[in-house]
Amino acid sequence: MNVEHGKLVCVRITVLGCTGSVVGPDSPASGYLVHAPDTPPLVIDFGPGVLGALQRYADPNDVHILLSHLHADHFLDLPGLFVWRRYHPSPAKKRGVMYGPANTWARLGAASSPEGGEIDDFSDIFEIRHWADKQSVQIGSLTVESRLVCHPTESYGMRITDPSGATLVYSGDTGYCDALIELARGADIFLCEASWTHSPDRPPKLHLSGTEAGMAAAAAGVSELLLTHIPPWTSREDVISEAKAEFDGPVHAVTCGETINVTR
Ligand SMILES: [Zn+2]
Ligand SMILES: [Zn+2]
Repeated sequence: MNVEHGKLVCVRITVLGCTGSVVGPDSPASGYLVHAPDTPPLVIDFGPGVLGALQRYADPNDVHILLSHLHADHFLDLPGLFVWRRYHPSPAKKRGVMYGPANTWARLGAASSPEGGEIDDFSDIFEIRHWADKQSVQIGSLTVESRLVCHPTESYGMRITDPSGATLVYSGDTGYCDALIELARGADIFLCEASWTHSPDRPPKLHLSGTEAGMAAAAAGVSELLLTHIPPWTSREDVISEAKAEFDGPVHAVTCGETINVTR
């Protein structure tokens, strides 16, 4: 536990990857490492490139996994983690826990199998637990609430609260919806996707624009907005400008390797 600027820091997020939809030139796809006292290191989403970045900050044998959903950019480095945990000279001593949507075992097992129609049963290395809407689970000292958000596949946002009440909310991938606002209500840090600018020809119920991320932050009354999941083909500057036009509080777009303290 650390004290910075007179505030107790219990929860710390390190950005392992933040490029939207694909790997970018400067960052893996989605992945966020959460450190908290008396809690195993948690990795939220595990997109392509995240396993490499993770090795700088934590032992891959120790982490538990929280998956927002099963689009490739949020989970497809996990077969590499299975190899690590099975074949590293110092293999994992115990199973990790993995939270995800209902079909996590089948989808991920298929991705990890070399044979068509077969599944690599990875239950030897991870115990799989399924999210449910408005469910609260305790992981170490943290309370994690999952909330179904608006995306074409079963997708969850997460609200993570430490014993002091400091709260991090992660949007996952989502269109603009009431569930997102309710989940983010009063959060200290709102880590929110913003995948494109606010052009009229965007498909509905898929992703947020910078404008919508800013609107969500304002509607939810969060303390700070961190933009993420910006694809390589979208202007970061435009997305940030859109969000700032809607939200009065601090706004920035996260970068790979950045560490953020979650304080009240
Ligand atoms: Zn995505
Ligand atoms: Zn997605």
